[in-house]
Amino acid sequence: MNAMVSSLAPSNVGQEIYADSSALDVLERVFGYSSFHETQKLAIDAVCEGRDCLVLMPTGGGKSLCYQIPSLLLQGTGVVVSPLIALMEDQVSSLLELGVTAAYLNSSLAYDEQQVIEKQLLKGELQLLYVAPERLLTERLLSLLSRSKIALFAIDEAHCVSQWGHDFRKEYQQLRQLHERFSNIPRIALTATADVRTRQEIVTELDLAEADQFIDSFDRENIHYQIDDGLKPLDRLWQFLQSNHPSDSGIVYCLSRKKVEKVADWIATKGRVALPYHAGMTDAERRRNQNRFQFDDGVIIVATVAFGMGIDKPDVRFVAHLSLPKSIEAYYQETGRAGRDGDSASAWMSFGMQDLVLLRQMVRQSDAVPEIVRVMQSKLESMMAYTETIDCRRKVLLAYFDEEYDGNCGACDNCLYPPESWDATEAARKALSCIYRTGQRFGVGYLTDVLLGRVNHRIESNGHAQLSTYGIGRNIDYQQWRILFRQLLAFGFVDVDHEGLGVLKLNESCRDLLKGKQKLKLRRVAVGSKSSRRQQDVHTDLSRRQQDLFEQLRILRLDIARTKGVPPFTVFNDRTLKEMAKIQPTEELELGGISGVGAYKIRTYGQQFLDTIAEYIATDRM
Ligand code: ADP
Ligand code: ZN
Repeated sequence: MNAMVSSLAPSNVGQEIYADSSALDVLERVFGYSSFHETQKLAIDAVCEGRDCLVLMPTGGGKSLCYQIPSLLLQGTGVVVSPLIALMEDQVSSLLELGVTAAYLNSSLAYDEQQVIEKQLLKGELQLLYVAPERLLTERLLSLLSRSKIALFAIDEAHCVSQWGHDFRKEYQQLRQLHERFSNIPRIALTATADVRTRQEIVTELDLAEADQFIDSFDRENIHYQIDDGLKPLDRLWQFLQSNHPSDSGIVYCLSRKKVEKVADWIATKGRVALPYHAGMTDAERRRNQNRFQFDDGVIIVATVAFGMGIDKPDVRFVAHLSLPKSIEAYYQETGRAGRDGDSASAWMSFGMQDLVLLRQMVRQSDAVPEIVRVMQSKLESMMAYTETIDCRRKVLLAYFDEEYDGNCGACDNCLYPPESWDATEAARKALSCIYRTGQRFGVGYLTDVLLGRVNHRIESNGHAQLSTYGIGRNIDYQQWRILFRQLLAFGFVDVDHEGLGVLKLNESCRDLLKGKQKLKLRRVAVGSKSSRRQQDVHTDLSRRQQDLFEQLRILRLDIARTKGVPPFTVFNDRTLKEMAKIQPTEELELGGISGVGAYKIRTYGQQFLDTIAEYIATDRM
């Protein structure tokens, strides 16, 4: 996206115009928002007073403003280190749409484009400059920076310094040089990674021991968590898409490439735009699909979990998992890609017994040292327990990250449709004893047939029709037995074999249950249940008529975005469009009162939006 150089705002729009303003003025005038989130304000004040700081906020928490606003308020250019080219480019597009002078330097630029930007930096014409870490550390750029006026250094995605994380970048560890070379310039490091070990590593590696730390709640309140029962997952996915997100874009995650292809085809034949994304495709194919996801409306990407890391699409309205993530951290990170713009979004999941079996085997067969395997195992167990919980999901998630959540969220599936629990002690004992009596050599299908007293060749030839457990489970139906076995596996009462045949074996921990010394309460899964119902309370924040206007505004937004070659969300995000559809402003002043509408956007395309709204109101009255 090289439109950036030519579409730079005129260079006289320098930092001076904001120098006398307050942070709140800038928030209102430039970004169109009326108030800060608490942590943002604290961090902005600290940086403006020249202190270093470390900011921990969840995805979508509003980290960018923490360095963008000080960059506008302080003299000089705010230099932002960012590891991902796509993110950088989108941030710069968004800033240009706000009338802020911003640019980036990375390997995608031609030499002459680079020179233009370097000159602007020296002349003090840039309010923000995004750079890749390896670029920043070149002698050429460091020397250029020492001759320029710098407002601050922002180190985005600071967890990349951590050797233990998935996103380790060795150049990040050299960023401590900044402190040594530019000791008077405040640094602000930011991350959405919550755990304590990573935080400590950031402090040590970046030399931030003296820095103020601002730690936000990790709750993503706009995300609605729900887990389906896993029977006929594709049909359920379709129901979920059509009833909750009929025209939205989102991501569907699958475990394997083959499944990615299959699911993408399936959704496409049902009539939605669904594109695959996985490591087996060529770069060009992947880029094409990613671009459509970014620049069009309503595209669904079906992908393996790596997709989403380098993509800055804040208006992803849902993340659907058709497989089980291997830990709560992974689940939280993947679902966290939904709703970064703060507008309501869904995290939906459906998985089957097969997923559990597969993941267990993957962990067991990994070549990691035993200590790590144990950690992996316990993480998987927490994840499985989360799927079966009858408590508020948000509460369980936050508790996992050591954060207490008061009360219930009222927006997850367990809060909206409280699951019943039932005393599964007897049924579980029957199931366990059936595993035992058949010699711990069979999978769920066979065991269920024995419990139901079905007649088939295998049962007869094994002589299992004579067992005491044969036919003792007729009070429960086939589907419910399958669910029960899955739950027993999820809670670790049974294990699966090493060979990948899906054979169930008893685990030590089932002993008390089997002997009748322990009771077991389980979540009752209603087969064919809830998510097909539209989530009235959380998703329908627009009336039908307002929804019509919203769709029209979306079309206008897409038109403008296409003409400019930018992603639609940089024009206005979903939340802003929804507010327009609700309030239906008829003049500039009123339009400016809408969250996300700043002065520059009113000037550039405010009138087009007002016209569309006026037209809608006129035809609506007819
Ligand atoms: P992060 O980098 O933490 O994931 P962003 O900085 O991209 O989050 O912000 C997420 C969304 O929230 C953006 O659409 C941003 O414009 C919006 N936002 C940030 N701060 C505020 C605020 N104070 N009021 C309203 N919206 C905000
Ligand atoms: Zn809840």
